[in-house]
Amino acid sequence: MSLDSLDNLFLEELKDIYHAEKQLTRALPRMAKAAESPDLQQAFTTHLKETEGQIQRLEKIFKALGQPARGKRCKGMEGLVEEGKEKMEEEGEPPVLDAALIASAQKIEHYEIAAYGCLRTYSELLGMDEVGQLLQQTLEEEEATDKKLTQLGESGINEAAVAAGAGMEEEEE
Ligand code: FE
Ligand code: FE
Repeated sequence: MSLDSLDNLFLEELKDIYHAEKQLTRALPRMAKAAESPDLQQAFTTHLKETEGQIQRLEKIFKALGQPARGKRCKGMEGLVEEGKEKMEEEGEPPVLDAALIASAQKIEHYEIAAYGCLRTYSELLGMDEVGQLLQQTLEEEEATDKKLTQLGESGINEAAVAAGAGMEEEEE
């Protein structure tokens, strides 16, 4: 498909995020399992449920456009998920690994926020009000997840990671 109209660009970006969200439904359970902090586990589990709802919203949008719900390989999300996986495979102190999971998850959320922000703006320009509302709902969920992850980091996980590192140094002495 050529990018000769905003309609086409909209559809291309829609396929990209659809594939990205599908990847996340497989990555989030692994992230929840890898997390040590029960609050962080909960955040990932909650966002998995939201992600399933976001996929349904995207399917509604495809339907509204009269298009089949079909994704197109999202290499951006593949890379982000792959980087997260690499960190999960590392040996380490659980609080530091939790801090790493938060960082990975926030990179993912920011990718999604950018994608949905563009899609929402295009939908407004294309006069698709109902589609725009669906995209706005998802955008708000992604932003709330990002904030929640920041709060989790600031409310102790990152400090625990600092303490874990300090403990290691003492042991080495
Ligand atoms: Fe999402
Ligand atoms: Fe998300």
